[in-house]
Order: sequence, then structure tokens, then C-alpha cells
Amino acid sequence: MSLLEEGRDVPLGRYTVVRRTLPNKARRTVGAWCFLDHFGPEDVTGKPGMRVPPHPHIGLQTVSWLLSGEVRHRDSLGSDQVIVPGQLNIMTSGRGIAHSENSPTAKPPLLHGLQLWVALPDSERHRAPGFQHIPDLPEVSDSGVKVTVAVGELEGAASPAEVHTELLGADIELAGSTEIRIRPDFEHAVVVTEGAATVDGADLTPGSLLYLGDNYDKVRLAGNARLFLLGGVPFEEELVMWWNFVGRSHEDIVEARDAWMAGSDRFGVVPGGEQPLPAPGMPTTRLKPRPRYR
Ligand code: MN
Repeated sequence: MSLLEEGRDVPLGRYTVVRRTLPNKARRTVGAWCFLDHFGPEDVTGKPGMRVPPHPHIGLQTVSWLLSGEVRHRDSLGSDQVIVPGQLNIMTSGRGIAHSENSPTAKPPLLHGLQLWVALPDSERHRAPGFQHIPDLPEVSDSGVKVTVAVGELEGAASPAEVHTELLGADIELAGSTEIRIRPDFEHAVVVTEGAATVDGADLTPGSLLYLGDNYDKVRLAGNARLFLLGGVPFEEELVMWWNFVGRSHEDIVEARDAWMAGSDRFGVVPGGEQPLPAPGMPTTRLKPRPRYR
């Protein structure tokens, strides 16, 4: 099975437009991956670049992956970390954290990358917040392919990123054709970030997500492309996702929103003196927990 699922363009912060392929019209999660934005490549010469002021998260991990450029992450734990291509920033919100993401003042001309979220399982979503910067990730190379394992394990290479469900996130630089062994107990999906690829017989370009399902032990890739492979054990818990929050009920979201708007120490303060982002108003109807399929 492979299903092509279209993304859509969404504004992020003040100056960036992203292609969101998860959640999409058909699906809310792949494994515990619950959000996938692809930004750029954009020439940010003489422009502000990424400007995402302090904002809160609950119930998730954020995963930042750059293909070009630099982004400075600051959070309410005091972390202050510039990320460059090949490195991973993974922030665990647990019960609450706030962060900002900005292009540095002196920056490379191109900004290009992925921003992903991972839903925390119910047993872990109230844990203390944390931040992990991983400067070196394991790589597996073969003729015509280089795989960087950002999260989880692939082809015997394991990332040190701490996650709380069985999960895979891998960047693939492809020039030719190859087969990659994958776990049949995982569901998988692929996005192309550059170029064009044929994935298990389906043609894929940036802007869509190819859902591969589960019960496969390999994926066939061909083309000249950069791809990101997502996978995980299907996430069966129903989620309420609203703004930057992942909860289980309407009340979870209202509580988090109220705490953020009140300046509660649940989220803390992001250094840098930027004006925090206010939360949008709650919808007039109650938010309902939703399953992984629409
Ligand atoms: Mn964020």
C-alpha cells in the first residue's frame, strides 16, 4: 500500500510559509509523529528569516532538522543553541515549556528544513521538560545513498535522541536506487525535501507525504533526491491537538492556554526579552479527542 497525501501552505511566525504534510486530510499521525512542516529553501538574504517568538508547548517533543541555514533555539530551561545542518535539536515539553526560534543576525543565505512534533504517550506527557542537542548523528552509506539517523534506529545505526515511543526519523540523500530495511511492526511515511524520487513505485516531489503503511520489511527508493523517512508503532491514543498543545481533553487545552496567558511558571520565561506570542481565542465548540485516521 502507498497513499499520496497532499500537504498545504501555512504561515509560521511572521515571515515564513511552510508546507504542512502532517496532520493532513487523511491522517493525523505516523507512529507518534503528529506534525511535519517543511520550510524553504528560501533566500533570506536581507530578510529577517525565521522569526518565531516565545510560545508554549505541552504533551509533545519538537524535532528540528535543517538542510541549509542556521536557527537559534532558546527555551525557558535556559537552553541557547544554534543548530546547523546535520545536527538535531529535540525538545521535550512534558507538562510545559516555552521556546523561541530565530534566524541569527549573521546567517547563511538559504534557510531550508523540517520542523516535526512527536506526541508523548499518556504515561510520559506530564514529565519534566528537557532539551537535547545532538551535534553528531550516526550515518550509514552505500553506493548512491547516505542515511543519517536522526531518531531511532535504521540499518544498525542508532540515534542518541531520547524518545518515549518506538520511532524512526531518518534523512536520506539519494543518487541512484537502493533498498532500505524497515521494521514491519512500524507504519512509515516519506517526504521529499529536494529533487524527485520514486518510492515503492510512487513518484514523489516536495509538498506531499507518501504513506507506506505497515507490514513491510523494506522500502525501495530511486532518484536524485533528499528525503525524510518517518516511522513508528501506530499511535493508538486519541489526541486533542490545538495551537501548540497536544492533550487528551478540551480541559487540558483550556488549562494550558489559561496558564500561558496568565504568565504562569508552568511555562517559564524564554531569555532574550522578546514579546511572547499570545494564544488565539478558544473555538466556540468543545475540542474532541481524535483518532489517527480521519
Ligand atoms: Mn515551537
